Parts: sequence; structure tokens; C-alpha cells
Amino acid sequence: MQIIVAKNIGFCFGVENAVKTAKTLLEKGFKVFTDDDIVHNKLVMNELKNLGLLINQPGEIFLVRAHGLPKEKIQLMSEKYKIKDLTCRIVYNLFKKAENLEKEGYKIIVFGKPDHPEMVALKSYAKNSIISLEPVSVNTKKIAILSQTTMSEEEFKNFVEKTSERSVYEELLVEETICNITILREKETMEIAKKVDILYVVGGKHSSNTKKLARIASKFTKVFHIETENEIDDIPSNVEKIGVVSGTSTPYDLVNKVVNRIKELGGIQ
Ligand code: SF4
Repeated sequence: MQIIVAKNIGFCFGVENAVKTAKTLLEKGFKVFTDDDIVHNKLVMNELKNLGLLINQPGEIFLVRAHGLPKEKIQLMSEKYKIKDLTCRIVYNLFKKAENLEKEGYKIIVFGKPDHPEMVALKSYAKNSIISLEPVSVNTKKIAILSQTTMSEEEFKNFVEKTSERSVYEELLVEETICNITILREKETMEIAKKVDILYVVGGKHSSNTKKLARIASKFTKVFHIETENEIDDIPSNVEKIGVVSGTSTPYDLVNKVVNRIKELGGIQ
């Protein structure tokens, strides 16, 4: 049984920065708190909680997660606490782009999940934006279509095509604001999925980019979305090639543990 492991594994730089900064502050003894998961990975969050990270309990330093928070909320928290803003610069660029284009008179349409934290935060920068997973129809002079940073490139193109067909406008601006790191992982996942009999997608079950990888791969092969190596009891019979890919909030060590588990069950890398 051959194991094919993706080259693009481990945290992306946005998550790496958030986790590293949180750990450093906790290890220095600060009372650090946040209002939700700073990254969408249960194991990483448990590690941070064990180091003393407080969730929804006041401390000294409030952490803003990698995929951002509404700016009013950050302002409110800054009146009482010190703020460590861990918003990834790619996400922040998206917020500012949406804000500026709205000021320039564009109707902002974002391909994204309305209740995803990044989209909830974006709404505070572009208050009249439409956020949707389904193509929409608008009748206005200028439209700008953007994307949540973790969406699929192919699905974004389809969204743009359908939205532009259904809408009436004079000017259309398309800004592909998908994070390049997630695009790379998406492409590599597709390539590996086409070669293997089964594919393990490693990452949080509620991580948007990991779920997307699982969805893309399932068009080509049998997919198992797992959070830890303990979820692999055995390898289905007749499997010759096994793939392993991971989301951007999955630590490198965890992917290695999954690979080692497959090796224990007869896999060769
Ligand atoms: S996936 Fe991209 S946008 Fe999201 S935190 Fe990582 S580097 Fe930033």
C-alpha cells in the first residue's frame, strides 16, 4: 500500500502566527482570553486552553482570531482590555478592499458563508454587502464581486458567472480574494485524489477550508475526513494507494501521526 502525502501541509502563516502569539503570551503568564476558537481545530484549541487560554471569561489581553472580528466589537473590547489582533493580513486586505469599494459606490457581493466569522466581520467593513453561497441577482450601476478567503476557486468562478448573468449593471469588477495557500492545497488535493483509492483529509470537522478539501476530493475518490489518527481502525481491503492531505489549521505533527498510523497498518511512504 503506497502512501502519497501532500507537500503543502501544516499551518498556514496566518494560523501559525495566531497560535504562536497566543502560546508566547500564555507562557509569559498573561491572562489571555478570546470569545471563540482562534483556529478551527479542536486539538490546537485544547492545547491552548491547557496553557490557560480563557474562552468568554475576562482576562487582561483579548485575542482577535485569525479570521477577524467586527470592528465595533474590537473597539468595544479595547475600551476595557489590551487587544492582540491576530487577524491574518490576507483576511484584513479583503475587509479593507470591501470597505473601499463600497465607499466608491460599488454594490459589494461576497461569495461566502454568511455566518462564518470572517463574513460576520466583513459585514462591519461593508455594511450593505450581500454575502451568499448561492448566486444572486441585483440591479445597480456598479457591482464588485469578492470571495471569502477560504472558498474554492472553481466554485467562485461559477458564482461570478451566474451572478453576472442574472444581474443588471453597467460595470462589473471581480476581485479574486481567495487565499493563495488554500488555492494551492485545493489543487494538490485534486491531483492526489485522482491518483488514490482512498484519501484522508485531516483537519477540524468545522473548519471551512478542510471541509472544502473533502468536498472537492470526493468528486474523484473515497474520502475520510478525520480529526486525529485514532479515527483510523483499519484500511479497507483492495486499497493500493492512500492519500493524505490537510487543512490550513491542521498542525504538521498531526499529519505525521496520521501517516505513521497508516504505516502501522501496512502503508509504505
Ligand atoms: S488560510 Fe490564508 S487567509 Fe486564512 S489564515 Fe491562513 S494564510 Fe490567512
